Amino acid sequence: MAFPGLRPVAATAKFFRTDAATPGGCTLEYREVVADGMLGKLAKWLRILGVRALYVRGAPDSDVEELLSRLEDPVFLTRDRALYARLASKGFKAVLVPEAPAEAQLAFVLPRLGVEPVLDMSRTLCPLCGSSLKRVDVREVEGLVPEGVLSAYDEFYRCTGCGQVYWRGTHFYEMKRKLEKVWWLIHGKVVC
Ligand SMILES: [Zn+2]
Repeated sequence: MAFPGLRPVAATAKFFRTDAATPGGCTLEYREVVADGMLGKLAKWLRILGVRALYVRGAPDSDVEELLSRLEDPVFLTRDRALYARLASKGFKAVLVPEAPAEAQLAFVLPRLGVEPVLDMSRTLCPLCGSSLKRVDVREVEGLVPEGVLSAYDEFYRCTGCGQVYWRGTHFYEMKRKLEKVWWLIHGKVVC
């Protein structure tokens, strides 16, 4: 069965914490996150943070349900209240994500997944396809990135799935800034 927009991920290990203490004790145990078609940006951020996230776009509800039943310990993230209620009533782990900017959605979702908004390139997955990244030598990316990038940076990563090349450019520090904002949204609240 084809799921438009769905990219498989290769890893099988349960590698992120499931025992993290979170406000409200709502950390979910899971191996895989499935995000619906309205949450593509969120799915990319989750991959950047090392969460195995599938992204289902344009699939009928019945296909989503079938997919979830085939996965081991999935959590479904959705903006669709009716679908959320239906899947939750059938015992699937699901999170109803509010309509909000990406940072606020992350601040809502990450504590529920037991994931901190901290960038760690050793865990980062390809935001495009969800495969793992491998650090590569600058010579391995010659011809794949602009000359100016080759001479300006010395830390490169390549996706083991789609081959996309990443480096610590300005976008990397922009991501760090956004994640720091998410961290403050999560941890910066004063609790009375
Ligand atoms: Zn990739």
